[in-house]
Amino acid sequence: MKGGLILLALAFTVQLFSQEPCNSFSYQQAELAKDPVLSARIRSVENFIQQQSASRVTSRLDGVVIKIPVVVHILYHSPQEKITDAQVVSQIAALNKYFRRRNTDTASAPTHFRALAADCEIEFHLATSDPRRRSTSGITRKYTPVTKWGADDKMKFAAEMGADAWDTKSYLNIWVCNLDKFAGYATLPGTDEKKDGLVINYTAFGTNNGSSVFSLGKTAVHEAGHWLNLRHLWGDEYCGDDGVNDTPKQASYTSGCPSVVRITCGNGPHGDMYMNYMDFTNESCTNMFTEGQKARMRALFENGGPRQSLLSSKGLDLPLFSSIPLPEEPDPKWLRPNLYPNPASTELMLDLSYDIRWIGKTIFVTNMQGQLVMNVSISSKNQRIDVSRLQAGVYFIAAKKDDGESMKLKFVKL
Ligand SMILES: [Zn+2]
Repeated sequence: MKGGLILLALAFTVQLFSQEPCNSFSYQQAELAKDPVLSARIRSVENFIQQQSASRVTSRLDGVVIKIPVVVHILYHSPQEKITDAQVVSQIAALNKYFRRRNTDTASAPTHFRALAADCEIEFHLATSDPRRRSTSGITRKYTPVTKWGADDKMKFAAEMGADAWDTKSYLNIWVCNLDKFAGYATLPGTDEKKDGLVINYTAFGTNNGSSVFSLGKTAVHEAGHWLNLRHLWGDEYCGDDGVNDTPKQASYTSGCPSVVRITCGNGPHGDMYMNYMDFTNESCTNMFTEGQKARMRALFENGGPRQSLLSSKGLDLPLFSSIPLPEEPDPKWLRPNLYPNPASTELMLDLSYDIRWIGKTIFVTNMQGQLVMNVSISSKNQRIDVSRLQAGVYFIAAKKDDGESMKLKFVKL
């Protein structure tokens, strides 16, 4: 009962944000409920990290800057969602600034916490080679008929009108799209490979993005922290554990920008570390990861670790096929079903290339009297409809797909 009340209180107070900062925990809970194998995988990652920290004296990675190849998949429906290369570059720069502790506000942390702050020696770089070793900018763009995405991973699949991940063993995939309600969410190490990566709302991605709340690129910093196995400072429960020794326990998340020592869970005299990137504090008031968080993230890259494969990625190598980078997929010519020729005598073509989710649905053809004369199962984005056996006259085509969009078209049979 007590836990229920706390959850209710959390759910209530998070509503204070017009756009909530991070949905990773709820997302993870939903994934765990769907996939019983996932919790075993996440537990085994946790065991690996515990072994590393128990047995570790020195590491082959000590002093090595880990460089992570990144691909950014931009999914856009309206033009403002089609963010520029410069915006992407600004986000990558922000990731590196904060992970390398090159921010200019390091002195804002209280002295005691400042001593714990770390240069994580982890960098993010846009890929130069795609999975087939072709030249790339590390940025893909794709028109989508989807106007808003939920935190349910559909943006990670071309079949759902999203973009398929590049091999997640070799790349950090970041999907940038119009994410409903949240600034972002991330998968933890151990997640299904096809879903592995970050999802960031286009309004919270990069710097100078027009957002008054998420304009410093720290949403991606926070989410990259999750992707590198960091938990929220409060361990997602009242005075919970984030698995890191040098972050104090704290009761819950922080909103706004506190300026005084706040003691919770007996964490005096220094109190909550609300200037840590893994809290929900205003972006302008966070400025550090700790040495303990750094060790937890970097342990993933040790031999046998779930992120080790990224160290041998070819994503930052020179491409083997460097002549011409692949052009971006053009916007579809029609953003609706297109039926031609009309009138028709023997065959109609129905162009559905703007949304392949029509495939598998059924077209119903009715006459002027409203009688069903034919139905056709859609098997192609360019669907042929044989009308040779229909009598001359006016007909209607109707179909509906799962997101509620329906098509109603009229044609004349000669
Ligand atoms: Zn988070």
